[in-house]
Amino acid sequence: MARIGIIQVKYASDTVADKCPLCNKLTELEIALYQGTFVIGFPLFPTSKKSEITCTTCKNSIPFRNAPNFAIDKHDTLVATKKPSIWIYTFSYFMVVMMIWVSISTTLDNGKFKKYIDDPKIGDIYETKTEKSGLFSKKDYYSYMKVDTIVGDRIGFKKCLYEATVGKRDEIKRKPEDEKWSEEIVYYTKEELKQYVASMSNLDQKFVIDDIER
Ligand SMILES: [Zn+2]
Repeated sequence: MARIGIIQVKYASDTVADKCPLCNKLTELEIALYQGTFVIGFPLFPTSKKSEITCTTCKNSIPFRNAPNFAIDKHDTLVATKKPSIWIYTFSYFMVVMMIWVSISTTLDNGKFKKYIDDPKIGDIYETKTEKSGLFSKKDYYSYMKVDTIVGDRIGFKKCLYEATVGKRDEIKRKPEDEKWSEEIVYYTKEELKQYVASMSNLDQKFVIDDIER
């Protein structure tokens, strides 16, 4: 399961030789700066920052009010000069940009599909995608259907006799027109066609309309 919550990422540290106010030994005090980071399996966004001074001998955290001045000065210098990296959030930024892009392009596509289905023209070519289960995996097969007749709310299509996987779609397009289309005409209502348009809500549908060319 993905880890969800705030983790502390150490982004800077330094040591000073000084007397620990807790164990009274002359030792090394470690000064560390942490950036709180909200993660859901991957870093999503930064939260608050935290500083800590610890004794490397007794391992205790030294309260700032008790810390030696030299350690406080070093801490202030670290805070002023070191900045936590923002690169760890790259994946999140990328995901956000992708989601915005997908939703914009889906909206634009849906506009086009709706327009073409509502106002069909003879010769419009619909690219269809059918998911088929093979022996070991599921595979998408692409084919085409061409608007042949329009009867009120129903659109009659001639279906292409060929289908191909994604990389071989062009081979279908290059087939001669007179041997590409079936003679039989299949009717769909405009409402049916709109339900077949590929969208985020019907990803699991076996048959979808992937594109319309005019
Ligand atoms: Zn100590």
